[in-house]
Amino acid sequence: MSYQVDENGFYGPYGGAYVPEVLYPNVEELRLNYQVILDDQDFQKELSRLLSLYAGRATPLYPSGFLSEKYGANIFLKREDLCHSGSHKINNTLGQVLVAKRLGKRRIVAETGAGSHGVATAMACALLKLPCVVYMGEVDMVRQAPNVERMKLLGAEVIPAKSGSKTLKDATNEAFRDWINNPDDTFYVIGSVVGPHPYPDMVAKLQSVISKELLDQVPSLTGKNFPDYVIACVGGGSNAAGSFYHFLDHPEVKLIAAEAAGKGLDSGFSAAANLLGKEGILHGSKTKFMQTPEGQVLEAHSVSAGLDYPGIGPLHAYLHDCERVKFLPVTDEEALDAGIMLSKNEGIIPAIESAHALAALEQIHFKLTDVVVICLSGRGDKDLETYINYTAAKN
Ligand SMILES: *Cc1c(COP(=O)(O)O)cnc(C)c1O
Repeated sequence: MSYQVDENGFYGPYGGAYVPEVLYPNVEELRLNYQVILDDQDFQKELSRLLSLYAGRATPLYPSGFLSEKYGANIFLKREDLCHSGSHKINNTLGQVLVAKRLGKRRIVAETGAGSHGVATAMACALLKLPCVVYMGEVDMVRQAPNVERMKLLGAEVIPAKSGSKTLKDATNEAFRDWINNPDDTFYVIGSVVGPHPYPDMVAKLQSVISKELLDQVPSLTGKNFPDYVIACVGGGSNAAGSFYHFLDHPEVKLIAAEAAGKGLDSGFSAAANLLGKEGILHGSKTKFMQTPEGQVLEAHSVSAGLDYPGIGPLHAYLHDCERVKFLPVTDEEALDAGIMLSKNEGIIPAIESAHALAALEQIHFKLTDVVVICLSGRGDKDLETYINYTAAKN
């Protein structure tokens, strides 16, 4: 059984490239070239240099005494929160902007919801000297004003998406439209393992640096070759794909994904695409997303902006169906409680996205000898206000 994308861009029934005819040449150019570029030694050398000297890799694998004692296992945090930009997203944007340069592109477009991917893209563009245009829903620009200022300071142009609900999906539509209008000189940097083939595979490979580092770190810290569990949160699924990647073909490694259950799976306010979604075509690929009986996209809800997405990447839809990855629902409240717990007991304020992965620990029974790796995908500075309001409302 293979978990790799097939030659047509599918993971089982999911994936593919369902794009309008005018976009076909852009996607096809990338499809024909991305693997050659990723495999090129000079490309790899340049990317590794930037990941280490600019982004701060390798990130530590930190043994959490507090979590280990609380849950009765050997629990480690993979510290993606220590990456430059504050999350794993920089791994992907550095890689894609380098790919764009290899393809001779002279301009970058991206979409962003909460702004984390937009900021990470703007950083990579400033560093690698390409002009950057970020589309962002007008509503999100108000909600995430500091990230808009960061992007501007980094030299990016931020264009408000004013159609529809004025949020992420509208920003995505605008970014696609821009790409259609500028097919020769522009590269579209997508922020997760979503979109038409080859994006899901390319982003998974760029994020796989996370599990590649674990292949060395786990043996040197634990004496075991592989962890018993790897746990990550899923929005589109890029930090999870990167954390799982080198363990997919080792069935003895249990892989767990935490989906945002929002106010509860049955509440009508959640973002659990695998647990609640149905098959359909979203953002250029066949995958699972939450939809009405008529097949219209349902609005997602999660307290964490990074998980507030109605769909999931096609790789994860497949990993769920063939039961290679177990998907667990985590509510807003469970995640916030887990984030506050880690802050108070380890001195690490996690992103609320990452706190979903921590909260999943409650749902698993471990053996004392188990080695458990949690991907701490990002830091929680951006979430201070949410944590504070939650604490105030509880007291
Ligand atoms: C964007 C983001 C996520 C969700 O995206 P994935 O593609 O599912 O990884 C998770 N954690 C943090 C900190 C993020 O910024």
